[in-house]
Amino acid sequence: MSIEKKWVGETADGTDVYSYTIGNKNGMRAVVLTYGGALQALIVPDKHGKARDILVGFDDMQGFETRSDYQGVLVGRYCNRIAGGQFTLGGQTYHVTRNEKDVTCLHGGGEFSRAVWQARVLTEYALELRYVSPDGAEGFPGEMETVVVYTLTEDNELVIAYQARCTADSFINLTNHAYFNLGGFDSGDILGTQLCIRASHFIPTDAYSIPTGEIRSVDGTAFDFRTAKPIGRDIGMDDEQLTLCRGYDHNYCLDQTNDEPVAEAYCPASGIRMQVFTDLPGMQLYTGNFLSGAEGKKHLPMYRHAGFCLETQYYPDTPHRPEFPACLYRAGETYTSRTSFKFV
Ligand code: BGC
Repeated sequence: MSIEKKWVGETADGTDVYSYTIGNKNGMRAVVLTYGGALQALIVPDKHGKARDILVGFDDMQGFETRSDYQGVLVGRYCNRIAGGQFTLGGQTYHVTRNEKDVTCLHGGGEFSRAVWQARVLTEYALELRYVSPDGAEGFPGEMETVVVYTLTEDNELVIAYQARCTADSFINLTNHAYFNLGGFDSGDILGTQLCIRASHFIPTDAYSIPTGEIRSVDGTAFDFRTAKPIGRDIGMDDEQLTLCRGYDHNYCLDQTNDEPVAEAYCPASGIRMQVFTDLPGMQLYTGNFLSGAEGKKHLPMYRHAGFCLETQYYPDTPHRPEFPACLYRAGETYTSRTSFKFV
């Protein structure tokens, strides 16, 4: 099997965009776009052997450019939030893009997710994407080179390996923002999907989705996913955290589990089961609370809870929280991380 390259269109400013399809012998396929380094489709056979695309998102380039809630894209230089859109490092204050409520920097201002990445086929199962973010982009210090490798294995594991290096000291927090619907993108909401997260604590946030500083136990709360339960079971519970975010939109502090999956999701209707592995300390569970019906694949509207995201990452707002696991990388130092989604 070899990786198939296809021209899919051009950006508004005329840059060509390609898709690369990686397949394995079990009928799985991962489609990656150079735009945003996006995981555009993930085809997985269901319990009857029927191929289902389990990613909510877009068929067309215009969707990614104009209707995006970060569907499938790579996110950097700092995913999730930086409070007040600024931080101090080495005695200097950096003002980064305030693209949420004019106050907060969300997903690094969006630069990585809008960039056209350079692709290179490494093997018949591995695709490399590379992007150089110029010094000062979105207000961040230094020039940063990022290399992401998507690999699909014969064990039905999609591995995303990240590497980055910046010419200045900087905070680095990278993720992929895929919205999963294990019944298929066209199967309705994800509230019936069973989810298990190996985390005994999560991070409560304020009205700006910024960590309050508390690391709260999930014990006896709607946030306890240590035993698998349907995503929708407790989502409507009377809990200020759920009300503020219209559902789950929170970072879990992952328990150390060695080689165990940090999360597992299962859709009874399709029989598709996905395990998540990562070497990162946190994972944002986002249940698509703000999806509002924009047109997605096959012209279907993407409504609230049409998909869920499991964004592995460092905790949010680390620049202001020295007590959180550190993601400050010195000039020239290499950031690496690895996350995978395995279908069993
Ligand atoms: C955030 C959500 C946001 C979504 C799309 C998630 O990572 O936590 O609050 O709406 O990304 O930007």
